[in-house]
Amino acid sequence: MKILAASVLSVSIAMALQPARAADAPTFDPKRLSDIVKTLASDEFEGRGPATAGETKTVDYVIAQMKAAGLQPGGDLKDGKREWTQAVPLLRAEITGTPTLSVSIDGKPQALTQGEQIAVRAAMDGSKSVAIKDAPIVFVGYGVKAPERNWDDFKGVDLKGKIALVLINDPDFETGQGDFGGKAMTYYGRWTYKFEEAARQGATGLLVIHETAPASYGWATVKNSNTNTMFDIVREHPAASHPQLEGWIQRDTTADLFKRAGLDFEALKKQAQTRDFKPVELKGETFSANYAVDAKVITSRNVVGRVDGSKRPDETVIYSAHWDHLGVGQPDAKGDRIYNGAVDNATGTAALIELAGAFAKTKPERSIVFLNVTAEEKGLLGSEYYASKPLYPLGKTVAVLNMDALDPGGPSRDFNTSGSAKVDLLDELVTTAKQWNLTYTPDSMPEAGFFFRSDHFPFAKRGVPAISFGSGEDLVDGGVAAGKKAQEAYTANRYHQPADQWEADWAFTGMARDLQLLYAVGSNLANSDRWPNWSADSEFRAARDATAADRK
Ligand SMILES: [Zn+2]
Repeated sequence: MKILAASVLSVSIAMALQPARAADAPTFDPKRLSDIVKTLASDEFEGRGPATAGETKTVDYVIAQMKAAGLQPGGDLKDGKREWTQAVPLLRAEITGTPTLSVSIDGKPQALTQGEQIAVRAAMDGSKSVAIKDAPIVFVGYGVKAPERNWDDFKGVDLKGKIALVLINDPDFETGQGDFGGKAMTYYGRWTYKFEEAARQGATGLLVIHETAPASYGWATVKNSNTNTMFDIVREHPAASHPQLEGWIQRDTTADLFKRAGLDFEALKKQAQTRDFKPVELKGETFSANYAVDAKVITSRNVVGRVDGSKRPDETVIYSAHWDHLGVGQPDAKGDRIYNGAVDNATGTAALIELAGAFAKTKPERSIVFLNVTAEEKGLLGSEYYASKPLYPLGKTVAVLNMDALDPGGPSRDFNTSGSAKVDLLDELVTTAKQWNLTYTPDSMPEAGFFFRSDHFPFAKRGVPAISFGSGEDLVDGGVAAGKKAQEAYTANRYHQPADQWEADWAFTGMARDLQLLYAVGSNLANSDRWPNWSADSEFRAARDATAADRK
């Protein structure tokens, strides 16, 4: 008995000196993870759409879980006390009924079916109705204006009263070499950038030409993400960020329009990959659109819990994950209309809840915030809102560890991150992962622009060291081949589709193991005085260094 007592004592001393070595990281229960995902992804939660009954259910559930875990409320201050949520005001816009959309070719109108050939988003420039009659159509290549790269696809073309057509991704995606990061996607390749630039150019509308490879997802994703209710953060001048008409159009439909205008789509696409490209009007063709827009400001919520730091409570480590998914929308082939979002992102929310439970039992030196954000699927809006109105100063935010769409299956031998991250945090992850014999596999599809597609990005662009953790593909059971196959099946058959549902045979043993790693990295940071930073050549370094005085 004495020997046992002594060894228990020495273990606790070792823990105090060297927090969260592999041996000390708590274990996580796969069954709990499965139960939480099953609940959040059940039909009763209605696909967790922001500002729906599904939101109320989800937020209540997450708060109850955080309370049970032993967290303190970490949200908005009211009468000197923190609430469990941060109110997030959002513009909510919806097309009323079915929009009338058409192209007129030599005076003959030809209807375009919403969701089939075209996916038009509800207007977010403040318009209550859209009535575009016979607007000229202009192809503007990749729609990129990048002075620092000496690149301008617009060449001064006047897009007022016109509809611009652009290619997705950036000009060197196809060739793999050039000034836009080669295969890797720069921000110029993201559709969010394309719409913003179109607004700056004064275009009446912009249609992104959908192609699966450069978009990195299929038409089903485009359709499901763009034809339902749209959200934005509330902006003072919305028309400065949004053209009146925003949407996507299928590649084959576009190629046909080009052909009928006497143009060759593939040839023009090649030209668009050069600096000399000039905008081309589709002669003899015009675009018309007619629909009403129901727009109002609604309030959604980020759920925020915290563990107070024992020594430096004003310094904060953040774990984040989004709770929202696509809600109820267009039915799939089976008639299912509920987008359950089991993988995306009930898994991340379950991970957040379980990490909260583990940390609530400890006394970290720095504070740890568990941030369950809303409206990720609407364009990272909950995290954008938090980062623009931080509850805890960004200059003293040590790191953001984000979790989005984790693999609910068995363990892998590796892990990855969304996009390449030139940040010390990655080194912390890589070093700590060795304790579990886990290796780091860099993002295999930098062309997909995943760095810009997760909730760590609003923090990163403001300089906060931030990374989005991803499950590995080199599965213990079946290796890379099995992992790749599973990933491809998920992207094709489930991603952003009603079929992203909880499955009884998911083991959750991979997540349980990865949570030990994520716990250890956060614990090490929360019990140190280190301030990770971006590498010297990162575009986010300057923003971080600008707040260096806060960390003295
Ligand atoms: Zn998603």
